[in-house]
Amino acid sequence: MSAHEDRYSDALEAAVRHARQWLASQEGRPVGPRRTASELAADFGGPLPPDGMPAAEVVDYLATKAEPGLMAMPSGRFFGWVIGGTLPAALAADWLVSAWDQNSGLRFATPATAAIEEAAGKWLLELLGLPAQSGVGFATGATMANFTGLAAARWRLLADAGWDLDGDGLTGAPRIHCFVGQERHDTIDLGLRYLGLGRPTVVPADRQGRIDAAELDCALDRVVLSGASGSGPAPLLVCLQAGNLHSGAFDPFRESIAVAKAHGAWVHVDGAFGLWAAAVPELAALTAGLEGADSWGTDAHKTLNVPYDCGIAVVRDSRALRSAMGVHTSYLIQDAEGPADPFETVPELSRRARGVPVWAALKELGRDGVAAQVRGLVRRASQLAEQLSALDGVEVLNDVGYTQVSLAFGDDATTRAVTARVMADGRVWMSGSRWQDRDILRLSVSNWSTDDADVATAVAAVRDAVAAVRGHTG
Ligand SMILES: *Cc1c(COP(=O)(O)O)cnc(C)c1O
Repeated sequence: MSAHEDRYSDALEAAVRHARQWLASQEGRPVGPRRTASELAADFGGPLPPDGMPAAEVVDYLATKAEPGLMAMPSGRFFGWVIGGTLPAALAADWLVSAWDQNSGLRFATPATAAIEEAAGKWLLELLGLPAQSGVGFATGATMANFTGLAAARWRLLADAGWDLDGDGLTGAPRIHCFVGQERHDTIDLGLRYLGLGRPTVVPADRQGRIDAAELDCALDRVVLSGASGSGPAPLLVCLQAGNLHSGAFDPFRESIAVAKAHGAWVHVDGAFGLWAAAVPELAALTAGLEGADSWGTDAHKTLNVPYDCGIAVVRDSRALRSAMGVHTSYLIQDAEGPADPFETVPELSRRARGVPVWAALKELGRDGVAAQVRGLVRRASQLAEQLSALDGVEVLNDVGYTQVSLAFGDDATTRAVTARVMADGRVWMSGSRWQDRDILRLSVSNWSTDDADVATAVAAVRDAVAAVRGHTG
């Protein structure tokens, strides 16, 4: 054993041992953490000791002390937010990414990770039916993937309006009018804010949270007819959504994109977890027309089930993407030939090769396997909706056509009480939320490992919570 290898082996073996214990414990453990962050502070804090500790002992200490404060997010009984598990090949590939320690910004410097990410990007475009020439960037999550798409939009819209964004900045630039659906994810507003684009015009949505295409048409007309941008065509940016957090609903892409395009708008789609529906032939109706947009953002750490820190930005106009994200300003890369360097497609310069676990997940599943995984999540969600709606006192509020199920149990106070009971119970984890002026309990089926037994456990946990709350009040 070389000295170099020797320095690592004990720590790595300790990490493998602890990781396997943690994963094995998912089967029976209560889903929620047993201790709060404040309670754990003493184990990790205090003054930094002057002397160090052997690496393997650090790993043992870390794993042992952290365990009571870990949420069983890899468990099939975790239904909170929209959070997936991790596929075995993706997890192992993520470890390799750390061991390889490649700073993956430049093709010539780290050719293996560049080639792997480029292959993963091409597979994704094919799988999701997006334009083959699109630029693809691996960002930290959907927030930054959306930001990246919106940054490319801003660059292109201003360039087309004759404005040099790189040279002159935003001050005095033509105003870009942005449009979002009533029920877009908050992080779209955040992306627009980061980019200095201000508060968007909010377009009404239907009962499932889908944007109303006719209303979008009117809203676009109002801006264009008001001559808000002076003489030139108004720069317009429309943000659509694939997968509503509460209902799982998809915006009507064909109609909305036709309307947006008739006004010359750039269309961005936030498909953090919904874009993956495009991989499933039976779900084609949900995503029909999606490929007509200009940019898309999604998460691989949600529905695909790779470890966290993996959003994906896709931009049809790859030059706009490079101009917005590259270090060189646009005039230098106008003549750039060949594939973009990874740093030219995302906000980060130095970064881990977060596309590698995506490649591993796609390789593990194959095209049919991805479809089967997403199909399985949708099937579990509809099983949950069916079995839960059969219970007395349980109301399923959404049309369940994807992975999300939103529940209410009568008035808000009762729903909050049931939610608190389910959380305290520990068999499953679900999020309380608010949707359309009601408190709700929301389930997301986003983990490949959720099975029949997990569905039955979830139904039992909700049933018992309802009975307990009714027992108290009745
Ligand atoms: C989760 C989510 C986001 C934000 O994604 P992050 O990966 O948490 O940054 C944005 N939009 C939608 C619809 C989401 O579900």
